[in-house]
Amino acid sequence: MLIDTHCHIHEDDYPLDRETVLGAARASDVNKILVVGTDMKSSFAAVEFAGKHDNVWSIVGVHPHEAKYGIDGLANLLAEPGAVGVGEIGLDYFYNHSPRETQIEMLNQQIELALKHDLPISFHVREAFDDFWPIIDNFAGRARGVIHSFTDNIKNLEQALNRDFLIGVNGIATFNKDPDQHRMYQAIPLDRTVLETDAPFLAPSPYRGQPNQPAFVREVANFLARIHTVEFDEVATKTTGAAEKLFGI
Ligand SMILES: [Zn+2]
Repeated sequence: MLIDTHCHIHEDDYPLDRETVLGAARASDVNKILVVGTDMKSSFAAVEFAGKHDNVWSIVGVHPHEAKYGIDGLANLLAEPGAVGVGEIGLDYFYNHSPRETQIEMLNQQIELALKHDLPISFHVREAFDDFWPIIDNFAGRARGVIHSFTDNIKNLEQALNRDFLIGVNGIATFNKDPDQHRMYQAIPLDRTVLETDAPFLAPSPYRGQPNQPAFVREVANFLARIHTVEFDEVATKTTGAAEKLFGI
């Protein structure tokens, strides 16, 4: 059994039929799915979608791109039962869609909320690790979670592993030809890895160019089996176990 720990199939503009996609996931043995919010509207929709579907859970939060709109309503949403995590939150200095100071402020506020509710966090960090680690360290080891869509270098991988974070690997890994990145993926212990699609984005090889869907997380597992030279089942067991433990699902 596999878990897609990070997708956005609950969004209004998801291009495929959701029920068909959920059926395809089940048929591919992808039996647990986490839908992730990116702003407040999307976070409310994630909780609602998860509530209506067996084996779907929600993660709620405001993406660094949307940080400038604030996080009003998130505290109330987390006060209700439903979400199993806070995310995706973090810093994105590649696009800088929100000012850096605002991204930092909203990241801090959302980590506080996650700690208050004892929830794991899905972090989005792009070209911003130098600012990210000191923020995490201010919370003195209390923030737990996953660095989603990790594509950075070995140095930052070690920083993440040293802080007990899990590493989210998605379809990018299947079409990245950079040997340094391959070595980085090989350095992630499988029992510290979780699988994700980020659907509808980043469809893995051989589905590139199509809208992504949770069933395709199988290709990420196939890739990891290849580069770690282990059986597919070992990838499935270890990554599923890591995700179930982190999110309590
Ligand atoms: Zn995402």
